Formats: sequence, C-alpha cells, structure tokens
Amino acid sequence: MNVTSTTERQTKYCQSIEETLHFLGHATNAELLNNLQLTYPDLSATTVHRATARLASRGKIAIAPTDNSGSMRYDANIKPHDHFQCSVCGRLHDTDIKDKIIPILESTIDGCSISGQLLVTGACKKCTKGYKK
Ligand SMILES: [Zn+2]
Ligand SMILES: [Zn+2]
Repeated sequence: MNVTSTTERQTKYCQSIEETLHFLGHATNAELLNNLQLTYPDLSATTVHRATARLASRGKIAIAPTDNSGSMRYDANIKPHDHFQCSVCGRLHDTDIKDKIIPILESTIDGCSISGQLLVTGACKKCTKGYKK
C-alpha cells in the first residue's frame, strides 16, 4: 500500500488542470478532461470535477458564466472582470466595460447602485463575419 503516490498523483493532476485552464482561458470540466486525456488517457471525469472544485474553493481559479448549454465553466483569470459571450460559438472573452457602462446605467436607472460582474452576449467577430454586408 502506498498512500503517498496517490496524493502525488492528485497534486500532479491538480497542477495540470490549472495549467490547462490557463492555456484555454475558460473551460468546462468536459473541455478540461478532453484536453488532459491527451496526456493522461486514464484521467477520469470525477478527478477533474474534484480538482476544479478544490481549486475554485482555494481561490486558485474562478467560476465563469455557464456555456451555451448551461454547463459550469471555470475561469483562469481570478481578478474580477466582465465577459462577452458569443451566442453562436459559445466563446467567452474577458473584457472590462464596467467603468464605462456603470455610470450610464446608474444615471439611467434612478438611484440604483450597480455591483458585480457584467455579462454581455452577442455574436463574436468570427461568427458575424460573412453575415454582415
Ligand atoms: Zn462566436
Ligand atoms: Zn474570464
């Protein structure tokens, strides 16, 4: 029986998952699994699920808006930021529109104070290409 090797393997997976998320920017557990299985063919969905939950609870990664099918998605960028999500391909882009948008919203909606992250949706550059004149 070797307890240490199991822990070491978990730590290795945790690091790889974190690195893969940094590479992808935003990803669901399924996307992380698909990516990591190229390196670790016997990596299970449960391991990825547990590792991302643990990384998120430690504040190493953040929770991003869900993808177009409603799957939970993680964010490598742990600083508060806004998102643009493409409704066509589902890609998520980091953006910082809060400083520009909030004063407009607050002056329009009388007396309100807006906080939290903004999520703007539409079609990304790639997806609008060809549809525009
Ligand atoms: Zn798109
Ligand atoms: Zn993000």
